[in-house]
Amino acid sequence: MKKIPLGNTGYKVSRIGFGGIPISRLDHDTAVKVVHGCIELGINFMDTAVAYKDSEIKIGEAISDHEIILATKSQSRDAAGMEKDVKASLSSMKVDFIHLYLLHGVNNPDLLKSVMAKGGALDALKKMKKNGCIGAIGITGHRADVLVDALKTGEFETVQVPYNYIETEPEKELFPLARKLGIGIIAMKPFGGGILENANLSIKYILNQENVVPIPGIQKTEEIQEICSIADGHTALSEIEKKKILQISKELGNDFCRRCGYCMPCPQDIQIIRAMNAKTSIKRLGVKSFIDDKGREFVERIKTCTKCGQCELRCPYNLPIRSNIARNAKYLESVLGQSRN
Ligand code: SF4
Ligand code: SF4
Repeated sequence: MKKIPLGNTGYKVSRIGFGGIPISRLDHDTAVKVVHGCIELGINFMDTAVAYKDSEIKIGEAISDHEIILATKSQSRDAAGMEKDVKASLSSMKVDFIHLYLLHGVNNPDLLKSVMAKGGALDALKKMKKNGCIGAIGITGHRADVLVDALKTGEFETVQVPYNYIETEPEKELFPLARKLGIGIIAMKPFGGGILENANLSIKYILNQENVVPIPGIQKTEEIQEICSIADGHTALSEIEKKKILQISKELGNDFCRRCGYCMPCPQDIQIIRAMNAKTSIKRLGVKSFIDDKGREFVERIKTCTKCGQCELRCPYNLPIRSNIARNAKYLESVLGQSRN
């Protein structure tokens, strides 16, 4: 697989990286096999996080004996918490050096202020870099405007943001600024969190952006085989593919849930992501996933929403969650009613 420089970090990473969330759902041996499959295909850049359950442990075991550029991240906001997490990551992955450590999920200006303040998480990362425990410092977040402000501070060597052909905001200011400053660009959610089903269109779209490294979450070896064969082939988009992308983008608009989970937890224990995406699930899978007892319980629970609005305050995309799930509750009732008749 072709390799490209990750900004000015000095690292040369494979054109496709590895996103470490899905292996947290696999048993240990299967997860290790999936990572080995990726390494065999030439992937040398692996991204994980303290928050991804045992993903760090599984990756750490799978990469021993391999030269892999490791990236991980923590949601700690103060220096003491961050230092503890970096040490825990080193221990989980059984390494004495992590190439890239990122501040995870810096999604609003207040958070950015707190991680950059004296005694904030950035202080700890700088200290760990000085001590030789980490190689470079990066930042991740869901809002391009907050990340633009972060890059302007000159403290970060990479930036990681959701990016795909329906989430193109970073193309306007964030990517040009990052390129100008020599900051490595990492694209998470290349398939829009599972909404974009055509891997060919999604991967080609990102590979046509200069120096943007996608890190698709991988759960099966076949998935990464398909992605790598797209990356190794002819990646220019045909006119028909461009039209298809426009058509899908138009259909989805901006008002869709990215399945990031920042809105959770809900005090009423409502599974907000599932509630937000109920229509898409029925379109893809039919009503079957809602007609068993658990499905019915889920539908009943949505109706207990008190409209407190806590979820909306946490959604980085400012989605009207309350009205969306109320609308979807009505839709589910009518679909389930029809399936009973
Ligand atoms: S508005 Fe409804 S879904 Fe959102 S947190 Fe409150 S109870 Fe839960
Ligand atoms: S509603 Fe918003 S915060 Fe919740 S999963 Fe969807 S996009 Fe993320």
